[in-house]
Amino acid sequence: MTIEKQPSCDDPIEPALLPVSDARRRMASSISPINDAETVHLSDALARVLAKDIHSPRAVPPQSNSAMDGYAISRDSIPSSGETTLQLIGTAWAGKPCDQTVEQGQAIRIFTGAIMPTGADTVVIQEHAMQVDATVRIDADVQAGKNVRPVGEDVQLGECVLRAGTTMGAAEIGVLASLGIDTVDVIRKIRVAFFSTGDELRTLDGHAGTELPLGMLFDSNRYTLKALLTSPAIEIIDLGVVPDDADKTRAALSDAAKQADLVVTSGGISAGDADFVAQVFQEQGQVSFWKLAMRPGRPLAFGHVNDAVFFGLPGNPVAVVVTYLQFVKPAIKQLQGAIRVEPVTLSAISSSAMRKTPGRMEFQRGMLSHNDHGQLTVASTGKQGAGRLTSVAQADCLIVLEPEQGKVEVGDAVKVQPFFGLLG
Ligand code: AMP
Ligand code: MG
Repeated sequence: MTIEKQPSCDDPIEPALLPVSDARRRMASSISPINDAETVHLSDALARVLAKDIHSPRAVPPQSNSAMDGYAISRDSIPSSGETTLQLIGTAWAGKPCDQTVEQGQAIRIFTGAIMPTGADTVVIQEHAMQVDATVRIDADVQAGKNVRPVGEDVQLGECVLRAGTTMGAAEIGVLASLGIDTVDVIRKIRVAFFSTGDELRTLDGHAGTELPLGMLFDSNRYTLKALLTSPAIEIIDLGVVPDDADKTRAALSDAAKQADLVVTSGGISAGDADFVAQVFQEQGQVSFWKLAMRPGRPLAFGHVNDAVFFGLPGNPVAVVVTYLQFVKPAIKQLQGAIRVEPVTLSAISSSAMRKTPGRMEFQRGMLSHNDHGQLTVASTGKQGAGRLTSVAQADCLIVLEPEQGKVEVGDAVKVQPFFGLLG
C-alpha cells in the first residue's frame, strides 16, 4: 500500500497557497459598501464614517483677528528707520470688538482672538513694543501684516472640508463644531456577528478561576475579537461558543448570516475531521479564498454566506489577531465605504535577527524604538509560536516580512505596522 500524500498545514511551501496580495485584491473586489446612512449628533459621531461630503456654511475665522496679544496698527505707521511713538486710542478684546478706526500714528491695544479694528492690518506683539501711559513705542523692525489671522485662513466659505468616506476622529469633530454643524450623515453601524468553535473550549462565565478539566482551555478568542471589534461604528453580536458538531455549526452560521453584515468565526477551518466550519462554509457559502501563503493565518476562509461577508479565522489566538488586522478590519472599512482601508505600514531597521524561509508572507510581533541616529528600529518579541498570545501583548507592532524574504539580519530594513490606536 502506498500513502498518497496530501498538502499539510506543516508544509513550509505549498504551491496552491494564494499570495496575500492576491487575497487582498480578491477581497476588495467582492465587498460592496453599505450605503445606508443615518443622521447622528456630532457628539455621537466618533469613529463613524461620513456618508456625504461636507461643505462649509461659513468661513473660519469669520473675520480677520489677532493671533497674539499686542497692538493693532496700520502698516503706514511703521517707521522706515529708528523708532516712533503712537497714540493709544482703545482696546479690542476677544468677543468684545473695538469699533474705533485706527489712523496712521495710532494704535489699539489688542488681545488674541479679537477682531482687527478698521484701519489696522498689523499686530505688534507686546514684547516688541513699549507702552507708556496712553502711548506705545515701536521700531522699524515691525513687519507689516504680521500676527493677523485672515478671514477663511482655516476654512473658506463653501469649501469641501471633509469628504464622504472620512472616519470621524477628534479633529474632524472639532472642525465641524467650528463650522457650527451639530449633526452629520454617517453610514449606519456595521453589524458583526461572531462565535468561537471547539469542543475543548470553556467560557469564562461561571468558570473563571476554576480548574480546567483535562484537555480543556478557556475561550480567549471571543474576548480578543470582541475587544478588536468594539467601536461606536460597530454593532457587536456575540453568539458564544459552538461545539464541534455539523448541525450546530450549520445552525449558528445561518443564524449569524441572517443577523449580520459580517460574520467572523474562530477555529474549525483546517481540513481535519472536527473542522466543521470548513465543511459548513463550503456547503452554505460562496468561498472566495481559503489557504493563504501567510503565517500565521494559513487557513483563512473568506467569502459570503447569503448576503453576509464571512471570515473563518483559524483557532490559533495569534492568528486571530493577525488575520483580523490584515483582513477583517479592512473589510469592515470597505463595508463602511471608508477612504483609508489598508493598515498603515512604515519602514524600520531590525535590531534582531529573525528566522524565515522564503515562500510565505510572515507577520512577526515586534517592539518599536529609535536608534542613536533617530531612525525607527524594531526588535522581535522572541519566539513566535502561533499559540503565544503573550507575544502580541508584549508587542506594539507587527513586523511584515515579504514572501520572497529569507532570514533577517540585524540592520536590515523591514516593514512594520504599528498597533497604535488598534489594540487599545
Ligand atoms: P482549530 O483552528 O480549531 O484547529 O484550533 C487551533 C488551536 O487554537 C486549538 O488547538 C486551540 O488550542 C486554539 N483555539 C481554538 N479556539 C480557541 C479559542 N476560542 N480560544 C483560545 N484558543 C483557541
Ligand atoms: Mg477546533
